[in-house]
This record gives sequence, C-alpha cells and structure tokens, in this order.
Amino acid sequence: MESSAKKLSSLRITSLDGDDDETEDPHQPPPAGPSAAAADSDDDDEEEEAEVTLGVLSKPKHPGLLLRHLFPSKAGGIPAWLDPVNLPSGKSSCCGFCGEPLQFVLQIYAAVEDNVAAFHRTLFMFMCPSMACLLRDQHEQWKHKHGNPCRSVKVFRCQLPRTNAFYSAQPPKHDRSDKPLCPGAHVCHWCGTWKGDKICSSCKKARYCSEKHQALHWRTGHKNDCLQIISSSAASNSVLPTVGKVPANTFWPEFEIKIDYEGRFDSDSGDENNSKLLVMQRHGKPDAMMQSWMDQFEADSDNKCWASFQERVSRAPNQVLRYCREPNAKPLWALSSGCPSNADIPSCSYCKGPLCYEFQVMPQLLYFFVVGNQPDSLDWATIAVYTCQGACDQSVSYKEEFAWVQLYPTTTTRQ
Ligand SMILES: [Zn+2]
Ligand SMILES: [Zn+2]
Ligand SMILES: [Zn+2]
Ligand SMILES: [Zn+2]
Repeated sequence: MESSAKKLSSLRITSLDGDDDETEDPHQPPPAGPSAAAADSDDDDEEEEAEVTLGVLSKPKHPGLLLRHLFPSKAGGIPAWLDPVNLPSGKSSCCGFCGEPLQFVLQIYAAVEDNVAAFHRTLFMFMCPSMACLLRDQHEQWKHKHGNPCRSVKVFRCQLPRTNAFYSAQPPKHDRSDKPLCPGAHVCHWCGTWKGDKICSSCKKARYCSEKHQALHWRTGHKNDCLQIISSSAASNSVLPTVGKVPANTFWPEFEIKIDYEGRFDSDSGDENNSKLLVMQRHGKPDAMMQSWMDQFEADSDNKCWASFQERVSRAPNQVLRYCREPNAKPLWALSSGCPSNADIPSCSYCKGPLCYEFQVMPQLLYFFVVGNQPDSLDWATIAVYTCQGACDQSVSYKEEFAWVQLYPTTTTRQ
C-alpha cells in the first residue's frame, strides 16, 4: 500500500486514511478518471518530468467534512488549524504592509513519508485581500536576502507526530463519530481565523484578533448583542456567533480541495472551446483584451512562456493548485520574466537548510473566490510556494515558509 499510495501522499493521508476511504464515502468520485487513466500512465514517456498532482475545488457534501480532525485540504472559509492551540499570532497573522489580519486562502494536507515528526503535516496560505499590498509584496520579495521583508502572502507549515495531544493515533472513521481530543484556542468572533486575545471590555465574552475586527463586529450587531449578553448572564453565549459561523463576507467561499493527476489528461485532448484563455475567464475578458495583454508582453520569451503555460493549464482547466514535492519539480511559470533565480529562494529560517518548491496556486482560484475586477481586486499569474526540504521541526508550531508571487505584466505597471 505504501508504494501505490506514494503519489497520493502529497494531498491525503496515506497511512491513516487507507483503502477504506472510497467505501466510506460513496459520493466521492475516484481521484483518477476511468479507463483512460491506466493506459495513459503506462505509456507516458516524459520520464524526466515529475508527475504533478492537481487540486480542484468542490463544494463539501456536508459542513462537517472539513473539520481539523479529518485532516482536510480546503480553500476558503476558515482554517482547520492542525495545531489548534498554538496559532500564529501578533505580526505573523497580519499583512506586513497595511497591518490588517490576513485572510485564509487554502490549506493542503501533505504528510511527509519517513518523517515521524511530520506524520501529519499541513500547509496554510493566507493573504491580504488588498491588491495594493500584493503589489508591494511582489516588489519586496526580491529583497529577501537582506533580512525578512514584509509580506502580504504568508504560508505556514504545521506538523505533528502520530502520537500527539490533539488527535487520536488511529485513523478517522469518517462516520461522523470522529472527534478531536481537545478544544482549540478561542478564536476571533469576527474572522473565526486568528486567536481571540482581545476581549470585549463590556460583555467580557466576545473575543477578537484585532481592533479592526472588534470594530466591524460592533458596527454589524455586537453593539446590541453586547447589552443583551450583559443583561442575560447565563445564556449569554448563545448571542455570540458560533465559531465557524462568522459573517460570510469576512472570508472567501469554502471548498474542499480534491486531487487529480495531470498525467491522466492527454496533452492534445484539450477541448478547444474549453481551454481557450481559461486563465482570463474569470474576468470575462474578450479575446481582443487578451490580445492587447499579449502585445504588452515585451519579450518573445514571455509570449512563448505564456503560450505554454496556457496550453499546460488547458489540459485540466479547473485546476487551482499544482502540487509536486519531488526533487526535480519546478513551478509552471506563466511568464519568463519575474521568475526567481536559485539565489532568490532563501534558506529555511528555522534550520537554515534548503527550501524546495512544493506547490503553486493558480489564478483560477480567484474565479472560485468570486474576486471582482475592480482596481484593488486581487490578481496574480501564479504563486509558488517553497518549503523546508527537511520538514524541520523546531521552535514554533507554525513555521513560515516562502511564497513567490508572479503577477501579470500589466498588473505590475498598474500602480
Ligand atoms: Zn495588506
Ligand atoms: Zn479577527
Ligand atoms: Zn461585548
Ligand atoms: Zn527547516
């Protein structure tokens, strides 16, 4: 089982989840398609290229599916913190530019085989929803060698051994009887994401990660609820929103990340209509607009790179994520300019060992997050994430990894 499940190890539990996964949830489609898949992978000649696992989004069948003790991979909503107690706090949880709390983008359950300290391992991505901050971030990322730059995109790695204080050492049964071993930290009543260290001075019940979220909550109802909480002592908790039922406009829509394999998509099977300019589709930009973008790409190499990016992505147009933790894996860059050189990738700030590429987030995610097309709406070509090769296990529970943001050329000059 170990070897056949090896490729799966990236995005799902292998040793825990095991073979019964398919039978537990009959609604879940198999990760790879029918007939074509088997023949394809055998005949594949591209040996030099590591197989890429794709992440695609689907609405969770029921809300309980993405809870932390089921070790989910998910996008949007609130994070299912792996270590539910020692959350990133202080400056770690805020945008380095505007200082506002970051918004949860996605998390990937990606355990590392043969590393007992990373029996469970989840990567979490957060981002400031302001495009102005992302633009500044994109400039700052080149300066990493000269000390820790400010970031508006942050990736945290959290890992646990099989025996730990938070979860059973036995695999989840997926029969809704699974429970975590202990409660998590109190989180902010507004964002449901970060630690709620600040307590409302009137009711002493509502908790917030920041003054901003306290103010937002106050204006949108807590002003009244607060009085109610004070006057009705016992039932007070019912007035506060349950964690996980925080106002929907404070986070992006929630999805489960399911996996697929790029290898099962034939390179020339891309449906012409389907594949055309999919990356642009969320903006509803017509071909003419696309052409004008293309014209603005200065170098031929950018055009070439863009064309091959488009071709590759069109094989599986719904991908929001590309994952590969093989030693020879590389991100699929949208443009040849704005790529990091080896020297631009820092070493691990905890163990000083090398970072290696692990996954990239595709612009299609913005479509699923219903991000608009206003001047300050988020936009990116791709975001590549590099993580500690040794999955080191030191100091803090949530270790910050390195993200490289690649923007479209027209976006970079928009400022
Ligand atoms: Zn910001
Ligand atoms: Zn908050
Ligand atoms: Zn209050
Ligand atoms: Zn390290």
